[in-house]
Amino acid sequence: MLIKNEPKFVWQNGRIIKWNESKISLLTHALHYGTAVFEGIRAYPSKDNLNIFRLKEHLKRLLFSAKVYFLSNEYTIKEMSKSIINLIQKNNFHKKTYIRPLIYVGDGGIGLNFTGFPIETAIIAIPFTHYFLKSKLRVKVSTWRKISHDSNPAMAKASGNYLNSVLGKLEAIRDGYDEAIMLDQRGFVSEGTGENIFLVKNKIIYTPAVSSSILLGITRDTVITLANDLGYKIIEREIDRAELYDCDEAFFTGTAAEIAPITELDNRLIGDGKIGIVSGNLRDAYIQTIEGKNDKYNEWLTKVY
Ligand code: PMP
Repeated sequence: MLIKNEPKFVWQNGRIIKWNESKISLLTHALHYGTAVFEGIRAYPSKDNLNIFRLKEHLKRLLFSAKVYFLSNEYTIKEMSKSIINLIQKNNFHKKTYIRPLIYVGDGGIGLNFTGFPIETAIIAIPFTHYFLKSKLRVKVSTWRKISHDSNPAMAKASGNYLNSVLGKLEAIRDGYDEAIMLDQRGFVSEGTGENIFLVKNKIIYTPAVSSSILLGITRDTVITLANDLGYKIIEREIDRAELYDCDEAFFTGTAAEIAPITELDNRLIGDGKIGIVSGNLRDAYIQTIEGKNDKYNEWLTKVY
């Protein structure tokens, strides 16, 4: 199978193998029922190395997601970190890289009860630059609601959750927008299809709380930390849809999306339709940090070489 950035090697169940030797059964439970959990991690070049950003936090969340769905992963955080580093080295990647660890229920039959089925683990690393190809996003509020916390917990990064995101994303793209914002079951702002959301009003930063069916994003946490350092007041609370139209600035955050300004929402300009000052400051601080130029957060970087 060909993808644009096909890597030479992947990691599957404890071994690095050639990309075209990796196989899964057509009866893989995860393929039928979405029974998998995963992570999206990035590595960035610095002056003299390639650094994986917040690897430990991503792997902790992966194991948390696995715990929610009783996926008994046999690898520790330390072992998975080592495997990720080995895989990037083996592929000889030195530029921006995206890393996708995946724990999935393998082939054990067609029943939903996967007790006793193999739980498999894979790691894929590919060169990756931008998720959004535009610097200013036109966004719409989706007609689809975000999955409810009491049916599919959004806190767990489970593959099955992304059917909801796919509905939101495809609707937005087909309607001529770049991305969708999902409202939670009560109508409060939740998040993007693969990003958390932040608003800025009168220099105060707002972001939905965990009670709005969000993934507790690692970029979200990074931005909250950097915003505090820059002296901004930041509030986590429920956000009304109309607050989106009333804000001065809005932006998405995510490992893939990084910090992505939203300048138009539901055919209304956000602020003056330009990238806002607070968003710009936070984006600069974020870039400094991922590129290893913010000494305060060097512990967030794991060296590959
Ligand atoms: N929400 C959803 C639904 C996501 O898929 C992602 C991407 N992982 C995020 C938020 C942002 O999370 P993070 O900053 O940890 O990448």
